[in-house]
Amino acid sequence: MFGLDEDIAVAVSGGKDSLVLWEILTRLGYRTMGLHIDLGIGAYSEISRSKVETFARARNLPFVTHALQTEHGLGISEMAATLHRPACSACGVIKRYNMNAIAAEHGFPVLATGHNLDDEAARLLGNVLHWQEDYLEKQSPALPSSHPKLVRKVKPLYRLAEREIAAWAVLQKIDYIVDECPNSQGSKLLLYKDVLNRLEAEAPGTKHHFYLQFLDRQKAREQLTPLTPDLRECASCGQPSTGEVCSYCRLIATLKVAR
Ligand code: SF4
Ligand SMILES: [Zn+2]
Repeated sequence: MFGLDEDIAVAVSGGKDSLVLWEILTRLGYRTMGLHIDLGIGAYSEISRSKVETFARARNLPFVTHALQTEHGLGISEMAATLHRPACSACGVIKRYNMNAIAAEHGFPVLATGHNLDDEAARLLGNVLHWQEDYLEKQSPALPSSHPKLVRKVKPLYRLAEREIAAWAVLQKIDYIVDECPNSQGSKLLLYKDVLNRLEAEAPGTKHHFYLQFLDRQKAREQLTPLTPDLRECASCGQPSTGEVCSYCRLIATLKVAR
């Protein structure tokens, strides 16, 4: 996934998974930088940001915060309402774009996120239920860089269950935001997690088996036909893109028209 000689940008939301990941990487001796996107969701974002800042300052770790409110004058919920699209879909585009751009700008070749087994198994279930084959191809705990401006994406906690991570966070006295993002209420991902938890209660090991077996099959498939996404530079911002203009620039252009 990565070596000790590589600098790691860690995407930190203020939740348990990302702070546990940052703590582990720091203890293992990696040079890291925290990267926080302040989504501008009222009290939830204020608490999230303060958890990240407190964590980093207590350990003297560097971090960067990118605030949507400062850049666009709107938080993610207002942006999504203006665009007439679900908050999580706009949020995904904005977070992915900014995380990659900021990590690359600071010279970090790797971006690590705190996704755990529950996240990945739930995402896999959603992708399978809807036969989203494009997404299935990209669902890997380590996505290589296929463009000089694209940093490698890794998910080192993908084998650990959410409960295990929460237990370790409590034992290590890591202070994280317990509340979920208010926009996650009613999300399909939470429904899939609930379904998988019920299966797990009846048949322990289901989640591991489901996700890890998928990864084994994916690895075998990739050896036959390696993934080589055709990326170019966005005509507007210069960041890697599959189309002439990247999805972030298209979203921001639509936002400007809609306001
Ligand atoms: S729940 Fe949706 S809006 Fe909230 S952080 Fe996650 S993707 Fe973004
Ligand atoms: Zn762009």
